[in-house]
Amino acid sequence: MIDNFGRKIDYIRISVTDRCNLRCVYCMPEEGVETLMHRDILTFDEIIRVCRVLATQGLKKVKITGGEPLVRRGVANLIKQIKDVDGIESVTITTNGVLLAEQYQNLVGAGVDSITVSLDTTDREKYAQITRRDEFVNVINGIKYAQKQGKVRLKINTVPMNASKEDILSLVEFARDYDTDVRFIEVMPIGAGVDCDSFTEDDFKKIIEEKYGPLTFCSEVRGNGPSVHYSLEGFKGKIGFISAVSHKFCDSCNRVRLTADGYLKTCLQFEAGVHIAGCLRSGKTDKELLDVLLQGIAQKPKSHKFDQKDNLENRELRNMSQIGG
Ligand code: SAM
Ligand code: SF4
Repeated sequence: MIDNFGRKIDYIRISVTDRCNLRCVYCMPEEGVETLMHRDILTFDEIIRVCRVLATQGLKKVKITGGEPLVRRGVANLIKQIKDVDGIESVTITTNGVLLAEQYQNLVGAGVDSITVSLDTTDREKYAQITRRDEFVNVINGIKYAQKQGKVRLKINTVPMNASKEDILSLVEFARDYDTDVRFIEVMPIGAGVDCDSFTEDDFKKIIEEKYGPLTFCSEVRGNGPSVHYSLEGFKGKIGFISAVSHKFCDSCNRVRLTADGYLKTCLQFEAGVHIAGCLRSGKTDKELLDVLLQGIAQKPKSHKFDQKDNLENRELRNMSQIGG
């Protein structure tokens, strides 16, 4: 699929639930958000159908996300079935890691191609402040277990807020002894993230290089999208940066998103897209479904406008937990 700006769309991020067992400050308000009714959430069969129809047009990569995807029962089974769709080359998942240890073997058995764990600090108290929950030990145990098992590529995504230098440096350590990439993400001004200050890529690099020496650019492709990777001497994993604010990457954006209630969303920042649940549930043919999906993709904006804080037109009102990141 080629969008109106010549970009090839071969990647979809599918949110399988809007529920979450954490309340990260940059993602959700403390009281949570009003959750969808079960009947409004797409079934696994509906999700698989969307993947099948889009795969006929060049969809190759699928990311399972949430809310917290591991709180939805049977996610491993969904991954297995998407892996079986003709044309799909990789199915990956992003999780907060709370349930990772208990579900790791199921995910591996389903053939997941990589697991990304979101972790913003290695300090238990700070973790509780950021996530408003005391689940740090479970997450660390999940990461350590996955590293030791080593059956599938593991990545750590981190959005360090109010972090100290020590926090950033200790997150980097996850890449030292295992081939685990650690990727630093700038906070995006979406939902609860609007009010949060962020480190920039340059801030992260300065802190890391002061302690570990030069970051060497790595040209190898190591993910589905915009992360730029670097090597550090003596480290097995890479250090990545996903810097949507300071290093805009919209020109090469290859993705669309599907929310848990079936909204095909074409840009993280804007509402632009199309509701497909009605189409999925009203006996339409695959050809008719495809036409609706393509109408949605045709609305994909040229770029985000995170820098124009007062430009509120068509701005996304969902929180990140309702979008999937
Ligand atoms: N619950 C899962 C997790 O935390 O990985 C999946 C969903 S979560 C919305 C996906 C990613 O979005 C997480 O890595 C999270 O840190 C990131 N995220 C949430 N809000 C953000 C924001 N305002 N700016 C940047 N990243 C954000
Ligand atoms: Fe939940 Fe992930 Fe949002 Fe944190 S970032 S509240 S874990 S959906």
